[in-house]
Amino acid sequence: MVNGLRLGAHDYLRKPFEANELMARVSAALRTKWLQDELRARNAELDRVSRIDMLTNIYNRRHLDEHLRAVISAARRHDRTVGVLIVDIDHFKNVNDEHGHLAGDAVLREVAARLQQAMRTEDALGRWGGEEFLAVLTDTPPEGVRVMAERLRQVVAAAPFTLDDGSQIRVTVSVGHTNGREDAEVLVHRADDALYVAKAEGRNRVASA
Ligand code: GH3
Ligand code: MG
Ligand code: MG
Repeated sequence: MVNGLRLGAHDYLRKPFEANELMARVSAALRTKWLQDELRARNAELDRVSRIDMLTNIYNRRHLDEHLRAVISAARRHDRTVGVLIVDIDHFKNVNDEHGHLAGDAVLREVAARLQQAMRTEDALGRWGGEEFLAVLTDTPPEGVRVMAERLRQVVAAAPFTLDDGSQIRVTVSVGHTNGREDAEVLVHRADDALYVAKAEGRNRVASA
C-alpha cells in the first residue's frame, strides 16, 4: 500500500472490498481530477491575461520585462546579442486633442496591429507605456534590427488611418533601436536615447545607438 501510494496511486482498497465502495472512491477520484484540471486551465488563462495589454491586445510591460531578461540571459550564454526597439507615435497628443480620446485609443489599437503584422513570430512586441511600443528581437544582427526598425516605421506611415467618423488621418512613428547583451535597463535606456535622436531629427524616422 505504502509503495503504491509513493508511486503515485490516488487511493487504495484492501481485498476483499465492496463494489459499492470501489465505485464511490473512483467517483471521488474523478471529481478531484476534474477540479485539478479546471484549476490548471484557469491559472493558465490568468497567466495569459496578466501578460496582455487590454487596449491593444498585444503583450504588456510586465511580460516584456520578463521576456527581455530571459532572452538577454540566453544571449549571454550563446554569445549573441538582443535587438531592442522602442516605437513611439509622433505627436500623438494632437490625435487626442483634435479627434478625442476614443479615436486616440482606436489609433493605438491599429498601430499595434500593424506593428504586430510586420514582426516575425519568434520576436516579441508589446505596449511599453502610453503610446510607446517595445520590440525584442533575438538572433538578429544589428543590420537586421535596423531593417526591422525601418519596416515598423513604414508599416505605420504607408497608409492613412480611418477613424470611426470616416475621416482619415496620417500617423507616423519614430523608432530608436540598439543591440547588445547588457542588462535590460541599459538596453532600453540606449534605445530610448536613440528614439530621442529620431524625434529631434524630425520624427517619422529611425535612429540607432
Ligand atoms: P512626440 O512626437 O514627442 O512623441 O509627441 P507626443 O504628443 O506623442 O508625446 P507626448 O508624450 O507629449 O504625449 C503622449 C500622449 O499620449 C499624451 C497622452 O494623453 C496620450 N496617451 C497615453 N496613453 C494613452 C491611451 O491609452 N489612450 C489615449 N487615447 N491616449 C493616450
Ligand atoms: Mg512617448
Ligand atoms: Mg509620442
